[in-house]
Amino acid sequence: MNINEVLTDYKTIGDFDKTASFGGYRGADIDRKLAVHPTNIKKAFNFFGKTDHNFKFYVINAKELKDKGERGITDTGWIRENFPNDPLVDEICEVNRDVISVCFLDNSGSQRVMFTPWIMAHRISHALARTDDNLKHYDAFISHMLNAIGAGYKIQALTGKIRYNNSHESVLCSFFNAIGKQKSSREGKISRPFEFVHECFAKYLTYENPHDDFEFNDPPEIITYNRNKLYLRDEIYCKEFMDRAKYDIMSDFDSMLGSSYGKVLIM
Ligand SMILES: [Zn+2]
Repeated sequence: MNINEVLTDYKTIGDFDKTASFGGYRGADIDRKLAVHPTNIKKAFNFFGKTDHNFKFYVINAKELKDKGERGITDTGWIRENFPNDPLVDEICEVNRDVISVCFLDNSGSQRVMFTPWIMAHRISHALARTDDNLKHYDAFISHMLNAIGAGYKIQALTGKIRYNNSHESVLCSFFNAIGKQKSSREGKISRPFEFVHECFAKYLTYENPHDDFEFNDPPEIITYNRNKLYLRDEIYCKEFMDRAKYDIMSDFDSMLGSSYGKVLIM
């Protein structure tokens, strides 16, 4: 596969030697260097070269766009009104049904993770989740995972139709740190359940056939959270729910991206 067919373009607007929208948060100086660094850009082409989806990236450092990121799918009227004067704005606003256009206005929402291809992918997921229709897929994933815990560890309160609430946060994060194969889970850094879904999205993009190749670790023998310990009692049943969650979210990522062609995502 020719990687350039996948991430079709990576363009920048603005002077990355100066503080503008990429500024005012810890790590912004490094992010500005990475945004224009040939090695990082090459890594982005490699990273986004594995998925079948076609992206076009615009990384923009402009004063007028300070704190305007994380909007998700955005109409071209807003873009023309708020973006700096630049010939590329016409290109961004041109509807191109062959690609998903992605504009990065800063990297301030990344919890101090540097502007690497992985975090670019992670943040695309944040932007997708800004749309209500998409957000329901994220919610469904969390519910399936609560069911996996309920089924595997025999927690009556987590079986059947459950809606996520704050009381589920600790047990889910502990579970996600155990089952996730990506770095943040290995390091025990998942501290909000939805962050795990965004991490799964980044991982999903690294596969040509995510349905076949994306995997979770087996459920842990013991989930420790707050002062509680849960013991695995039915691994098979637990895995069934995990598989269901995985299957659905892989399809959902596909369909969310599928409906984003010809649109502009802003983050
Ligand atoms: Zn995040």
